[in-house]
Amino acid sequence: MDLERWLGEAVHAIGDWSAGFGPSQPHPSLEVSDEAFAAAFAEFARRMTDNYPFFHPRYAGQMLKPPHPVAVTGYLAAMLINPNNHALDGGPATAAMEREAVAQLAAMFGLPTHLGHLTSSGTIANLEALFVARELHPGRGIAYSSEAHYTHSRMCGVLGVEGHAVPADSAGRIHLGALEDLLRTGRVGTVVLTAGTTSLGAVDPVDEALALRDRYGVRIHVDAAYGGFFTLLAGAAGREGLPAAPWRAIAECDSVVVDPHKHGLQPYGCGAVLFRDPGVGRFYLHDSPYTYFTSTDLHLGEISLECSRAGASAAALWLTFRLLPPTPGGLGQVLAAGRRAALDWSDLIETSEVLALYQRPELDIVSYFPGAGPGATLSGIDQASERVLRAGMTEPDLVYLSTLRAGAEAFRARHPGVAADAAGARILRSVLMKPEHEQYVPHLHARVEELARPR
Ligand SMILES: *Cc1c(COP(=O)(O)O)cnc(C)c1O
Repeated sequence: MDLERWLGEAVHAIGDWSAGFGPSQPHPSLEVSDEAFAAAFAEFARRMTDNYPFFHPRYAGQMLKPPHPVAVTGYLAAMLINPNNHALDGGPATAAMEREAVAQLAAMFGLPTHLGHLTSSGTIANLEALFVARELHPGRGIAYSSEAHYTHSRMCGVLGVEGHAVPADSAGRIHLGALEDLLRTGRVGTVVLTAGTTSLGAVDPVDEALALRDRYGVRIHVDAAYGGFFTLLAGAAGREGLPAAPWRAIAECDSVVVDPHKHGLQPYGCGAVLFRDPGVGRFYLHDSPYTYFTSTDLHLGEISLECSRAGASAAALWLTFRLLPPTPGGLGQVLAAGRRAALDWSDLIETSEVLALYQRPELDIVSYFPGAGPGATLSGIDQASERVLRAGMTEPDLVYLSTLRAGAEAFRARHPGVAADAAGARILRSVLMKPEHEQYVPHLHARVEELARPR
């Protein structure tokens, strides 16, 4: 699609709607001349060049990419009106769109019933899930794996709940034996499982953990902020297909979080939290005198910890789902290409003489390191990773990677031959979250190999 054309159409469509209310003159205090704007914008455009090319496949670093042009157009059009999805009278159209988009997310996970809403981020979405968990299990703690997102322990502090980090196994998944030992103490009321860790894309065994819920009377929350949309590849036939069991089991869990601003083609900030039991809405009840006056319908602000939220986020997500729905044949195809790219690159790295694979990717995150081979040490690998990262971003034929810190124990669980002469090592990590990566992998591999060769 032609973004410039559709951005113009968006401005026109909202202008036509506005014109229906009769003329209104902007106040002189708001007047900005085109000349003044041109000067400020020139400076702005210059400042914006200090960025990494997230859109380009040569950017294979952190979990970052621009939104789809459909989302940009939907966001911009709604932003011109600027609805607030806190309350129905803050924007009836985008509140309805939010409900529909959230229902599509619930259907994607196979939830039979749901209560849910968008949030400004995965962090806030997880906070909401943990808040409800605390209300339902007062005085009991929350367990998450040592590989879970760092905000879980932080939010336990915010909520005044005891947080328990459970060790991860040699694939970066929560260690179920260690989890069960902890649950036996009776101190835990909620278990957070991660479906796609932020560091390595490891998927906790949600299906196996479900048995523990019944045995120990705990809630299970799934943090699928990054990985959630990969449920679209669960049981798929191609080599990008994923083992179905952990993903199907999400439908049985008590709550799940997914970030449309990560793998759902959306701009920041768009997270989502879904509860299986709509009855948890009772924990949000409040009586604000300011915002509710046109409807007795459920207001999104009544089931959300946040107050103001951009209706534009809901508009962008709704419009995107009209064209790239969260189905295997829609958005699933986008994720499939990134997953195939990760598998292809891993295959190449496994036969490389200068790079070694840290572990096989479960989703679309490739972890690897230079400096392997006889006599390899953690400190040598750390320095080599750092050197490749820097050289990639400064020498011609740019590549942008990221580093990840691996602890000595975790490293040696995967690569026992490496001497632990340090507490850990930085390794290289590439999130191949753009479908364009699939075509670019051979070049990416050749370039990173070149950078990794001893000089
Ligand atoms: C990114 C991420 C978060 C935090 O989400 P934000 O949208 O960045 O606040 C939480 N959990 C996991 C697993 C994530 O990948």
